[in-house]
Amino acid sequence: MNIVVTGGAGFIGSNFVYYELEHHPEDTIICYDALTYAGNLETLQEAEKNPKFRFIHADIADRQAVYDMFEKEKPDIIVNFAAESHVDRSIENPEQFLKTNFMGTGVLLDACRKYGIQRYHQVSTDEVYGDLPLDRPDLFFTETTNLHTSSPYSASKASADLLVMSYHRTYGVPASISRCSNNYGPFHFPEKLIPLMIINALNDKKLPVYGTGENVRDWLYVEDHCSAIDLILRKGKAGDLFNIGGHNEKQNIEVVKIILKALGKPESLIEYVADRKGHDRRYAIDPTKIREALGWEPETRFETGIQKTIEWYLTHKDWWQHIISGEYMQYYDRMYGNR
Ligand code: NAD
Repeated sequence: MNIVVTGGAGFIGSNFVYYELEHHPEDTIICYDALTYAGNLETLQEAEKNPKFRFIHADIADRQAVYDMFEKEKPDIIVNFAAESHVDRSIENPEQFLKTNFMGTGVLLDACRKYGIQRYHQVSTDEVYGDLPLDRPDLFFTETTNLHTSSPYSASKASADLLVMSYHRTYGVPASISRCSNNYGPFHFPEKLIPLMIINALNDKKLPVYGTGENVRDWLYVEDHCSAIDLILRKGKAGDLFNIGGHNEKQNIEVVKIILKALGKPESLIEYVADRKGHDRRYAIDPTKIREALGWEPETRFETGIQKTIEWYLTHKDWWQHIISGEYMQYYDRMYGNR
């Protein structure tokens, strides 16, 4: 099969490229990526050595480029990871989020209608459900929880999900959707919580923690997300919607302290900063449906996954040092000043 992975030069997309090349060597993997600030060809260096891998540098919102790709590559499957993905950047400037996350998804769906496809899979997020109260640990997001978004990022992702469902129902595009909790692991862009804290701690810089640090995220090791999507593609069917998560809820401050301890750095590096606007309190996924329907289980416990992740950042300093020396530094200064 020809599998097109849009956004495959980013964090989860690149992990998915490697997962597919390893587990399905019979398939051809075509990464289609605009290489925004979050896309990185260095991440795909190993994949480039594989004759079953190809890279196309283009934008999912560019209709002609998407149609050209369909004519040339004749994809059997599209997995759409391409997105503007950082909530803080969506608060600063929502426009690009609407263009890529909503309009770009629409262009991909139009191409599926025009040329046909075996499966279109939309990689979505638990953030489409909004948040849960901190004092109700009995509540979880299920696939029937109402959409109730908080940020321009999550609103753009929820809108895209609705578009996918409408193309499935109206035009019969064979589409599926997965909504995953927060991922962590190799190739995670340094602006996100876990890599930010690892890198700042390694550099003995302050660790900026929003508000009181009590907000809860439900963490999943990125490879477990990849295995879930792979199962949905191969064992799921058109029209499927699955939540993905591993019951790994942690307060942000707990995660920060685990990282400091693992690196042997003092908690005095922690600095509480003004809270994110509209900050979601708690995310928690109920993954019962995917477990019962497809037999999916996460394999990596948080304690193991965080150690592997820290180890990866220690052994791949070149990768993140190249990133933090560029545009990223201007973003960092805007967000956190000279901390
Ligand atoms: P990322 O920001 O690391 O990577 C996004 C990739 O998409 C980059 O390679 C970028 O160059 C590419 N891209 C952006 N705009 C594009 C465009 N217009 N055309 C083509 N390529 C474009 O993101 P990520 O964290 O890997 O997230 C991937 C997907 O998974 C997103 O759709 C996100 O909403 C979803 N998701 C992420 C998480 C998480 O914890 N990171 C959790 C659940 C769902």
